[in-house]
Amino acid sequence: MLIEQSFGRSIKRNDVVRQFWPAIVVFLQMLGLTLLLLQQSYGQQVEESRFLLDNVRVIVGDGTVLESAALLIEGSRITAVGSRSEIEPDVSVEVIDLSGKTIIPALIDSHAHLGYEGHTSWGAENYSRENLIEHLQRYAYYGFSAVFSAGSDPDALAYEVQQAQLGGEFSSARFLFAAGMAPPGQGPNDQFLTHTVALEKETGQRILYGVGSVEQAGELVREIAAKNISVIKIWVDDRGGSQQKLAPELYRAIAAEAVENGIEIYAHQQYAEDMPGLLDAGVSGFLHGRIGVGLGREIAQQLTAANAFVVPNMGLGELRREAIGSDPFLRASLPESVAARLGESAQRLREPDRIEAREAELRASFGHLLDANVDIVLGTDAGAVPDHFFGYTGHRELEIFVRMGMTPMQAIVAATSKPAQRLGLDDLGLLQSGYSADFVVLDENPLGDIRNTRSISSVFLNGKVLDRTGLAAGFVQ
Ligand SMILES: [Zn+2]
Repeated sequence: MLIEQSFGRSIKRNDVVRQFWPAIVVFLQMLGLTLLLLQQSYGQQVEESRFLLDNVRVIVGDGTVLESAALLIEGSRITAVGSRSEIEPDVSVEVIDLSGKTIIPALIDSHAHLGYEGHTSWGAENYSRENLIEHLQRYAYYGFSAVFSAGSDPDALAYEVQQAQLGGEFSSARFLFAAGMAPPGQGPNDQFLTHTVALEKETGQRILYGVGSVEQAGELVREIAAKNISVIKIWVDDRGGSQQKLAPELYRAIAAEAVENGIEIYAHQQYAEDMPGLLDAGVSGFLHGRIGVGLGREIAQQLTAANAFVVPNMGLGELRREAIGSDPFLRASLPESVAARLGESAQRLREPDRIEAREAELRASFGHLLDANVDIVLGTDAGAVPDHFFGYTGHRELEIFVRMGMTPMQAIVAATSKPAQRLGLDDLGLLQSGYSADFVVLDENPLGDIRNTRSISSVFLNGKVLDRTGLAAGFVQ
């Protein structure tokens, strides 16, 4: 009986299908067209592309390198890495011979401040959805797959742009942001603070959370958790006396509540001597390494024991003194007037004026981090001050890493898999099967000279080549 009923329903359904088949076909065609338009409007390819990059040096991102290797890309993913004979793609796959070139995972900047830089001006007046997207595209242009903006973004707007990017509305580096915490009315550098406060007023959105008491610390962390923001940036800095420093009892309360809510705390601290207390509280990363005499062997070992990472952030001090506008690598993405100002300024040095004793101090301190196997992560603080540019500064920081004692391979790891792991970007930072196809094709081998990360032949994000020429044409206007 059950079978009969079932059979009966089945027949009936078939009748219905037969009767309405022409209408169903039209409907399915329209549905297909709608999906196609939807996909196109989200920038995704309708047909998954499938290609093999062959005969190329692959710097995996974990410290290993494969010579004359092949990389199979299907859609937005890497689906195989190894020798061509191991991968054996079917005959239909498009093979692109990259003899002589090198592929690295796209880079990640773990400390920046997006939105305020306008290139001819800097400040809250420049912060907009369009400017955020432009900054993310500047990162992409320079071969970055992601950037962490550290506690200076209006939360609702930042979230909206983040989601639009992830949805494929535009092609750029991924956008990560944090809630900022400091004593009430304090936080970023004095100039920056004026602009974040103005932007909060203008947008009616939250950027900074002023913490005045232990109770309030708990309440605010829960408020941030409710907004699904997974990182809090705290400022522990008196700015040379112009601001109030976040007290240990307050950062301890913030960190304790953050742990309860699965939130990570990254610190801006003015001095290395603040690091042990912050580590003790549970801070997981330091956005300003404070490399120098204050950071010795002992703190390095404490950092490792606590499994905390360090963004040395050394370019912030030195790049702003150089005539960077005359560097063609930067100039390619700047309006001519800005490049000229930075290249010809009498205040900027044509040649670095490094003092050997200071260099030795920095190298010794950096060496302690390396010896203790501390997770060193690339970050630049780009955008926190005028003329400290997105993407460009990341390549410069890599040069500094090598100058301070890293091998080029270590520097690349610090800019790829390490930040990906720390920022929870599970599918970035490595060239391995299953990872997002976000990588940079270089003309020259960066393992021989780290400055070769500048020799960008092409950038791929989500398996698609980025239109760098088109982007640069927009940037220089
Ligand atoms: Zn910063």
